[in-house]
Amino acid sequence: MKILIAEDDMTSRLVLGATLKKMGHQVTAASSGREAWDALNQEHFPLLISDWMMPDMDGLELCRRIRAAQGARYTYIILLTALSGKGSYLEGLDAGADDFITKPFDEDTLVARLRVAQRILALHETLRIQAMHDALTGLWNRAAIVENLTHELDRARRDARPLGVVLLDLDHFKSVNDTHGHGAGDAVLKEAAQRLKSSMRCYDKVGRYGGEEFLVVAPGCAQCENVLTLAERIRGSIAAEAVDIGEQMLAMSCSLGAAVSSTHVREDAAAIIERADAALYRAKEGGRNRTELAPETPMATISQ
Ligand code: GH3
Ligand code: MG
Ligand code: MG
Ligand code: MG
Repeated sequence: MKILIAEDDMTSRLVLGATLKKMGHQVTAASSGREAWDALNQEHFPLLISDWMMPDMDGLELCRRIRAAQGARYTYIILLTALSGKGSYLEGLDAGADDFITKPFDEDTLVARLRVAQRILALHETLRIQAMHDALTGLWNRAAIVENLTHELDRARRDARPLGVVLLDLDHFKSVNDTHGHGAGDAVLKEAAQRLKSSMRCYDKVGRYGGEEFLVVAPGCAQCENVLTLAERIRGSIAAEAVDIGEQMLAMSCSLGAAVSSTHVREDAAAIIERADAALYRAKEGGRNRTELAPETPMATISQ
């Protein structure tokens, strides 16, 4: 596990660091609260073992800052303390600490406390992953795929390299539910998700945008031809074979709206999805089982 130590006393820091390394952990050591805070702002550490008394920023203040920042991922905090008594424990918990180890530490106690930390962190990680995924298809959920798109749009702007977006909607899906039941509808959605995943490259992302709508974010698709090729490959794989719903095989198809991010206006996730959605609408109007490409954003429609 990646562990950050904050301890101003050099001897204690070295002993604790060596002990944790011996246990197989990856250790980063900071000699003050401020140094630890800077390290936490550079990268994520699942576990912080911090001294209480430190000259520039004490362990309590460090705890408070970490909890106030509320990063997407949890940092479990163990306070190392020579202090004892109910008052100091309560103060520590109140500041955001999860556990305490009294100094000088006992190795068996440290091992046991780290096991507790790992248990809690594993639970946090499971919840974090669940919160980003769609339970039925296992794909990213709407919030996660839109966040990914926002992040990729930022990067595309920085690198001056546009990205592709594809919005896909299964055709006549309501009739699957109406004719064969919701269970069959769910089976079709799962199969569509599998086919989508297998028709994309590893750096493209796909999420379930709505009921039977999926959103693909393709950072490698800087040209209209690339995003069209991708959309057509997806369309082909969705329609390739009938889906086995138990009682029979059902034909499946989808309509797609494709868009390439603008190079001349600052476009956010909602704006590019709206363009892809308008193209998707045209694909539906045009007879379904087809792809339409969104035109470039006109200069005047989006304010900088
Ligand atoms: P179109 O070709 O115009 O897209 O027609 P459609 O029937 O696919 O579109 P419509 O929007 O009329 O119906 C979408 C259906 O998707 C309605 C809704 O009940 C169903 N649906 C949404 N989420 C789920 C789900 O999780 N499971 C199942 N089985 N059905 C779902
Ligand atoms: Mg100290
Ligand atoms: Mg729909
Ligand atoms: Mg549909």
